Amino acid sequence: MILTINCGSSTIKYQLFSTDVETVVAKGIVSRIGEEGSYYEQETARGKVKELAAVPSHHEAFEIAIHNLLHPAYGAMADIHEIEAVGHRAVHGADLFIASTLIDDDVIAKLEECVPLAPLHNPPNLVGIREGMALLPDVPHVAVFDTAFNQTMPPKAYIYALPYSFYEEHKIRKYGFHGTSVRFVSQQAAAVLQRPLPTLKMVVLHLGNGVTMTAVADGHAVDTTIGFATFSGVMMGTRSGDIDPGLIFHMHRQLGLSPDEIERIIYKESGLLGVSGVSNDVRVITEQAQAGNARCQLALDKFAYMAKKYIGAFAAAMGGLNCVVFTAGIGENSPLMRQMICADLEFLGVTLDEAQNERAVGGKQVEIINKVGGKTAVLVIPTNEEKMIALDTMRLAIL
Ligand code: AMP
Repeated sequence: MILTINCGSSTIKYQLFSTDVETVVAKGIVSRIGEEGSYYEQETARGKVKELAAVPSHHEAFEIAIHNLLHPAYGAMADIHEIEAVGHRAVHGADLFIASTLIDDDVIAKLEECVPLAPLHNPPNLVGIREGMALLPDVPHVAVFDTAFNQTMPPKAYIYALPYSFYEEHKIRKYGFHGTSVRFVSQQAAAVLQRPLPTLKMVVLHLGNGVTMTAVADGHAVDTTIGFATFSGVMMGTRSGDIDPGLIFHMHRQLGLSPDEIERIIYKESGLLGVSGVSNDVRVITEQAQAGNARCQLALDKFAYMAKKYIGAFAAAMGGLNCVVFTAGIGENSPLMRQMICADLEFLGVTLDEAQNERAVGGKQVEIINKVGGKTAVLVIPTNEEKMIALDTMRLAIL
């Protein structure tokens, strides 16, 4: 079996897959590590468990996860040696990793090198890798990077028009995120359309609490909306998306806000929450907009408008468009948002079948929502980053 691990600063999420990655055998989380009220949760065919537990550090969290997987009543395996390989989510691989890779000392050293580029994410990823390798020292471990898929972007897409030394000396460039999700759904899209991926000019809209749009042509990423930090592109639940960078100087010099305060505002108080003043959740905002709240309507309008503009920009960058894919929480569940984004894009061959669009909710299966005969395929595809991690792990460690 293959174990996938997504280790964050206060949470470990794990899934156990059958070796052929066809079946999820167990799915679990250990949450609020090092905080009050920590707990674990696990689901297998034999049942669900959710309990409060003391979890002072990631070390205990890993022990709990393995204990739960081995539990005689609600576990999923009899012996830890049933785990044949482990796949780890790794957030930032900078330009050092263009694909998933088997982990050795050199890979760990390179991941350390990337810490300044992702100070919040790479350290817990490294903790997860070290703890996982200590618990399961005899099996291969694989790192799957969120940034790897975007490494194919051409220099004109990833370079910022700053003095070139900032790129050369400080690695300041566009990296992009959510690459594992985008890679998964773009492969699924090609399979559903029964066309080789390289023949598609595709825009993938990963619309979750975090939002990434990516242009995929010739089978790889050619541009993406998130840049060096994680707030550019389309507005998100609480992040602003694109703003005039000059605002940051203005907020600091004229409004007297400190860099930390500005950062908090841009990341935590902006986006759908900032504009609506109500919530970061499209469900709540939609309800309030329908009840006549004008700022909620504006938040939805602004979100759809920003996404629509990037579809146009990416179609221009790719020299065409024949596939649009919606994924993640909003993309998989909000017919309204999909309809608002796709409205008036007939000139790009995008037309929605209203009934199909309304039906495509719940993130259970792939849905084709373009009108029959529409020039551009429009798909709703449930993302599954864990499955992509497991597939890479199988390919690199088992086959
Ligand atoms: P994710 O980060 O992919 O889990 O997406 C989370 C976001 O998806 C939430 O904050 C909501 O805005 C959105 N979402 C989830 N379910 C729905 C739904 N039924 N309708 C509209 N938006 C939804």
